[in-house]
Amino acid sequence: MGADGEKTTEETTGEREELRTLVAQLRTNIAARGRSGLLGVAMTVGAPAGAPKKSAAAAVSPPPPSSPPPQAVTMKPSQPPKSRDPQGPPQDDARDPSAPRGAAGLQLVREELGDCKRCKLCSTRTNIVFGVGNPDANLVFVGEAPGADEDAQGEPFVGKAGQLLTKMIEAMGYARGDVYICNVLKCRPPGNRNPEPDEVASCEPFLKKQLGAIRPRMIVALGKFAVQCLLRDDSPISRLRGNLRTYEGIPLMPTFHPAYLLRDPSKKKLAWDDLKAVNAALAKVGISPPRPSAP
Ligand code: URA
Repeated sequence: MGADGEKTTEETTGEREELRTLVAQLRTNIAARGRSGLLGVAMTVGAPAGAPKKSAAAAVSPPPPSSPPPQAVTMKPSQPPKSRDPQGPPQDDARDPSAPRGAAGLQLVREELGDCKRCKLCSTRTNIVFGVGNPDANLVFVGEAPGADEDAQGEPFVGKAGQLLTKMIEAMGYARGDVYICNVLKCRPPGNRNPEPDEVASCEPFLKKQLGAIRPRMIVALGKFAVQCLLRDDSPISRLRGNLRTYEGIPLMPTFHPAYLLRDPSKKKLAWDDLKAVNAALAKVGISPPRPSAP
């Protein structure tokens, strides 16, 4: 600085030089991000320490428009998600790798659900039926809503349809406790009527958060209601079943509901085909059931 407070020529030249270097670094950085597909996503670099993390719900926001179309789902090879570098490339479904996972993540979702009074089903339910099974499961089964037995016991799929589901899971080579089982709705609709839109709107965010915490490699959606609701597709279940799709970036296999299979056992063969296709898709990414599956 000169005596008169003005900058000297050397200082000005030095600052210009510094500015040039900074601009060059910025260009290199932008070019690198463009190559790695990182442009257009929120950058964490420079975020203030302690800035709020994305919620699990945000973490499982809808897949980007470039998601594979129906029947073109590619299974990515198995990778240990827990060791992901939080500064590394985002997953294509934009889920937050820093969101709490497994049992701790599910516990947070359960706490947030609390003694839920978000919809009218709270006044007729006996128990909230949150979900049961392995919080780190590769495979999650999603049904419609609790029935009378589930409402009484607070556990999904424990009635007749549940017993058939357990057999189907075992035929795949898993035990009930290896997988996670839950429903779109956590409370029983009176008389087992169909879920209503406001009930789904209140409850589905919690399913998303459950799936965000578990991050399974595959969802099996059971029956017309769960399938149409999760896929936002009102095609008949007879057309949807057996075709691999995605929900929030997670491969999803639509199949018949076990209660329907009890009413029409001739459809069991098709449902079994779907479950075998699930095992085959998981095998492609290195995931096989802990026990041998039925032929
Ligand atoms: N049907 C469902 O969809 N879910 C249950 O938990 C029981 C029956």
